[in-house]
Amino acid sequence: MTTAIEWTDTVWNPVTGCSKVSEGCRNCYAFALHDMRHKAFQEGKRLPQQYAKPFKELQLFSERLEQPVKWKKPRKIFVNSMSDLFHKDVPGWFIKQVFDIMMKADWHVYQVLTKRADRMREIVTAYLEHEKLDKLPPHIWIGVSVENEDANRERVHHLVKTKASVRFLSCEPLLGPIDLSVHLNWLERDTGKPYIHWIIAGGESGSNARPMRQYWVESLRDQCKEFGVAFFFKQWGEFLPHEDDDEDPEFWVTDEGAGFVHTSIPTDDDWDYMNRVGKKRAGRLLDGQEWNQFPDGGERDAN
Ligand code: SF4
Repeated sequence: MTTAIEWTDTVWNPVTGCSKVSEGCRNCYAFALHDMRHKAFQEGKRLPQQYAKPFKELQLFSERLEQPVKWKKPRKIFVNSMSDLFHKDVPGWFIKQVFDIMMKADWHVYQVLTKRADRMREIVTAYLEHEKLDKLPPHIWIGVSVENEDANRERVHHLVKTKASVRFLSCEPLLGPIDLSVHLNWLERDTGKPYIHWIIAGGESGSNARPMRQYWVESLRDQCKEFGVAFFFKQWGEFLPHEDDDEDPEFWVTDEGAGFVHTSIPTDDDWDYMNRVGKKRAGRLLDGQEWNQFPDGGERDAN
């Protein structure tokens, strides 16, 4: 299935459904989209059977497992854009089948992203032991979502201890400053490079989006530059920093939160002004440049 997500080519959803675990889930697009269709299904609209159930009920689709084998042209595949593969309700035997397919259809690149880093580490370790492998091969990229420092502390140490050839972070929606120096200073013995190979960053989109400060994303880009890590800037989201020649600013944002200029004042003395301009106009330029790097040395094709 094609997708508008800039850092992948296709999504593969052998599982749907999930539950919220952290601030990054607050405005989950998959949740909102699925439950909107679920409501329409209940009202009698003709929609696929998967919408008979709400998003909070996980569904396994064994019949979708073989899809990547049928896709003959190599592509980057985002695994489970409508769920989290390592959710506690996805049984280990099913996750093993997903990994078996990724090993079999090895002409693709798989991007496996989770917020359940502890279970991911446990299951990947067990899988490697079972298959007598030292680490996951370079076509299976393993990543964790890191929206703020809490997520950094909770998840990244599990990622760097997961035996994978390619590890990545998705810092989207970026909700605060993130300091990765502890992890990036730690180098793999065999490659002499950091254990993290790719960082995606982006602001939130959608009607309830929260603004992203410019320095949060610039700091991630600069950490990538300093440590030789590939960086991909996906989007600003709904907001852009206020420029002097813009009309009056609409919002303020601090590291603690955001508010309307006309109804509240920041309690912090360090804030940025932002304007809501919409996702399309906000675009994906950071300091006048697109950042389209991939961990395999590739770049995103121009549109
Ligand atoms: S983990 Fe991902 S899919 Fe699950 S609720 Fe959170 S954002 Fe949505």
